[in-house]
Amino acid sequence: MNSQFWDPEIETMPGKQLEKLQVERLKKTIELAMNSSFYAPKFKELGITPDCIKTVDDIHRLPFTTKQDLRDNYPFGLASVPLEKVVRVHSSSGTTGKPTVILHSQKDIDQWADTMARSMYCIGLRNTDVIQNTSGYGMFTGGLGIQYAAERLGAMSIPAGAGNSLRHLKFIEDFGTTALHCIPSYATRLAAVMKENGVDPRDTKIHTLIIGAEPHSEAQRKRIEELWGAKAYNNFGMSEMCGPGVAIECQEQNGMHIWEDNYIVEILNPDTLENVPDGELGELVLTTLNREAMPLFRYRTHDLTRFLPSDCPCGRTHKRLDRFQGRSDDMMIVKGVNIYPIQIEKVLMQYPELASDYLITLETIEDNDEMLIEVELANATDDFAALQNLSKSISRRLKDEILLTPNVKLVGKGVIPQSDGKAVRVKDLRHNH
Ligand code: ADP
Ligand code: ZN
Repeated sequence: MNSQFWDPEIETMPGKQLEKLQVERLKKTIELAMNSSFYAPKFKELGITPDCIKTVDDIHRLPFTTKQDLRDNYPFGLASVPLEKVVRVHSSSGTTGKPTVILHSQKDIDQWADTMARSMYCIGLRNTDVIQNTSGYGMFTGGLGIQYAAERLGAMSIPAGAGNSLRHLKFIEDFGTTALHCIPSYATRLAAVMKENGVDPRDTKIHTLIIGAEPHSEAQRKRIEELWGAKAYNNFGMSEMCGPGVAIECQEQNGMHIWEDNYIVEILNPDTLENVPDGELGELVLTTLNREAMPLFRYRTHDLTRFLPSDCPCGRTHKRLDRFQGRSDDMMIVKGVNIYPIQIEKVLMQYPELASDYLITLETIEDNDEMLIEVELANATDDFAALQNLSKSISRRLKDEILLTPNVKLVGKGVIPQSDGKAVRVKDLRHNH
């Protein structure tokens, strides 16, 4: 297969045709969900049947689904097929509370593997690659999701799993790993462990990293690419939408193509739930078009992003999403100002003197909100004057970005506690939080 596309027909399908496919699949999905004890009464009440759907815009007639709905109907209340058709159960990582459960039929698993394989192909991976996965192989979808896709692609897969950086290093060297799947915070941590053990990640065969599962800035990506001497591609997934493989950057590295044959994509104002004007920031709301065990309609992801202008030089017609700003629940309100951790990261990563780990602590001091930013130094130094200048400069630049002046504390390597899963960037110790 020499094509630049895994599935040329689908990936380059003209907009109008893609919409027609979406309408067909949405109708089918509604028909399926009429078997769900969660959706059936809702549809009945709203008078929704497959025949109501004539264009993609008719999505507006459908009800929203929230994480709370999934929690309230835990574990199997949203099934649209008899449970004997379910072959696997996954759950979210539980970053924002009680984990939610997602059901998969065999067809769902096959479709998911195929789409993630398509995503791998899209960033240039082929069956000649050796793909090592650093995600946990449990209920978290980053393990098996990547595994099945790498096998579908026909690559050699290394299901190394989470943790144990020295073992990862050994596999990278022994097996000639060419591609690594990891969360961005682990990409920098593993690189540091390798360097401590005398191996420069740039000297390995790794040419590609698939990074995702947590927000990261463009500056962070550049650092990762620099550290590894490899390309790093942003990959978006969430367990409610299968897992990894919902959207990925192409080799242009300018926005993630979201696979519209699988999802209807809306970006809405989270307060009014109306569409935001094209190109403006809003909440991503997704409807599954290709899942049978547990289809979800207008699922509120709480992730904030925007559409990028549609034509991509790569030839794929599927819309592109901008790098995520974070989740709406990541937003901090400090002294009345709305701030996202990623805004702070963007500034910190501009300083080569700083390493990649940082922690934002919010406290109440004498009835005032105070923000402390601890950030690790790239190299140890006892040049006190230089450190003072550096922290002053960081505070100033942060003030330009977030409109208030935080306390900046420069700390040594390894001082900031590391989490086992996704990086924890904010600790809110304020009295009323
Ligand atoms: P949890 O919500 O418990 O973390 P998941 O493991 O399903 O559960 O993670 C999905 C969430 O991870 C997304 O809703 C999003 O907030 C975040 N995420 C995933 N991929 C990316 C990415 N490439 N960039 C930013 N955030 C991401
Ligand atoms: Zn593209």
